[in-house]
Parts: sequence; C-alpha cells; structure tokens
Amino acid sequence: MLELREVDAFYGSIQALHGVSLTVSQGEIVTLIGANGAGKSTTLMAISGIVPVRRGEIVFEGQAITGKAPDGIVRLGICQVPEGRHIFPALSVAENLDMGAFLRRDSKAIAADREMCYSLFPILAERRHQPGGTLSGGEQQMLAISRALMARPRLLLLDEPSMGLAPLVTKQIFTIITTINREHHTTIFLVEQNANLALQVADRGYVLENGRIVMQDRAAALLGNPAIQQAYLGI
Ligand code: ATP
Repeated sequence: MLELREVDAFYGSIQALHGVSLTVSQGEIVTLIGANGAGKSTTLMAISGIVPVRRGEIVFEGQAITGKAPDGIVRLGICQVPEGRHIFPALSVAENLDMGAFLRRDSKAIAADREMCYSLFPILAERRHQPGGTLSGGEQQMLAISRALMARPRLLLLDEPSMGLAPLVTKQIFTIITTINREHHTTIFLVEQNANLALQVADRGYVLENGRIVMQDRAAALLGNPAIQQAYLGI
C-alpha cells in the first residue's frame, strides 16, 4: 500500500532521514520505533508532504506521491494525527470532528461517521458541545484520532499517541487503535517512543536510529529480541 524507497529529508542543511526504506501493506499495523530525535516524526511528515523529500521516492497504492502537496495526499486517503494533537481549542468537539471532514460533501455519511466516532469514544459524545481546549489530554488524543477518521483515511498515520498520557488512558487508546484497524479496515502506521506498547499492537516494526532504519522484523520477534529489549524495552 505504502512504500518509502531510500528517502532522504533535510531541515535546511541538517539531514534528518538517511535512505529510509519501508513498506506498509493493506490491513497491517506497522510501527516505527526509536529514541528521541531519531527522525520518526520527520518520516511521517515526509509521507504527509509536510517535510520535503530531497532524494528517494514515496509510493502510495502504486502512485508516486513524492513532492505532492499535503491536501492532495489527504485526498488520496492518507491522514496524519500529529504529535501533540493540535485540535482546535475554541471549537466544540462536534465542530472539531466536522473539520476532519472538510474535503467531503456527503453530509449523511459525515453524520454517520460522527456517530461512529462517538461509539468508539463515548466520552466524546458526552462532551460533544464542549470546547476542545477544555478536554483532558487523553480526550484530546481521542478527538484528534476521531477527527482524522472523519476524513475516511485508508492509511492512518499516528504520531506518538501515548505522549503525556497516563498508562490507563494510553492502554484504552491502543485498544481502540486495534479496533480501528480490524473493524474499520484502516491500515495504520504508528510512530511511538513507547516501543513496548507499539510492538504489542503492531504486526511488524522498524527501528530508526539517527535517521536510518537499523532493524525490521515481525513485531513479536522484535519484542523477543534481546538487543531491542535492552535498548528500547527497558528489560
Ligand atoms: P521525538 O520523539 O523527540 O519527536 P523523532 O524521532 O520524532 O523524535 P524528529 O522530530 O523527526 O525525531 O527529528 C529528527 C531530527 O530532525 C532531530 O535531530 C531534530 O532535532 C531535527 N529536527 C526536527 N524538526 C526540525 C526543524 N523544524 N528544524 C530543524 N531540525 C529539526
């Protein structure tokens, strides 16, 4: 479904990605793990068209998307939930959800999808008239994921969904990530510092170090790999 071929990305003269190659197949949850500053967010932003790719190619469903504008990439069915969530604080929960559907005109289906988000995250239904900025961190993460779902993505890019959240809320969000993948047939590319959790929900994983992929395997194999356990799982 998605393929990165030897992707290099820069911020000015600083090279953040060095020949990153990876694939995500339809129906999978694939995770990219790595330390702070390894280049995980940059990889997602390169896919979304926010960070320019200087060398290499990104192909989505057979079509090169390298150099495409971000809105064109959303139209193709890729939607990113950014790190730090970035919901619209002054807009209500319902209005935030509608913002996610800004490219759609099918109002009946939009209303049905809003209800689908409320059934995934019932707390959002309770808070539907409340300004997004008044939600807790976990609720804002739920809203950010839901807003992305309102675009009906075929590929959902999640950047650190566990960031700053209590373990119980994180667990709840990861359970729903699995539901979104299995029951809503959405392929997921998940960037996480919490490698343990990410590898528990993923089918496959890649390890990024200093902008380079240094390892890839089935998620279960990475969980059982002593080098990964020592470097990323605190075992
Ligand atoms: P984190 O988990 O801390 O977000 P990350 O793995 O997502 O880390 P990136 O945010 O992708 O890492 O950063 C990769 C490298 O690019 C880092 O060295 C970072 O300092 C650098 N970088 C990121 N954004 C910018 C920017 N806007 N300008 C310059 N350098 C940047």
